[in-house]
Amino acid sequence: MKQVYTNENRLLAMNSKNRLENAGINVRLKNEYCSDGATPGHQAWLELWVDDGDYQDSLEVLKTALSDCSTEWTCQSCKEENSGEFKICWNCQQALSV
Ligand SMILES: [Zn+2]
Repeated sequence: MKQVYTNENRLLAMNSKNRLENAGINVRLKNEYCSDGATPGHQAWLELWVDDGDYQDSLEVLKTALSDCSTEWTCQSCKEENSGEFKICWNCQQALSV
């Protein structure tokens, strides 16, 4: 297993996980559960791990994903602002339609 992605923002990490899974790549999460409240001020970053054989493909998927993340967009359904890094609305899961 290799780590392909980590982010302190769990939404972004989960978004990347979705991208990888949509590309047919098996993803394992580490630090998914860390809400014990015992360590205030320090929260473990969510980590995405994949099989060694999927590592290169995963990098490609994430590279493509991050290259088109510059512009914000407004959800057609609920009118929430979304970071360009997302392809589905963080609020209502509506897919970005351009
Ligand atoms: Zn929405």
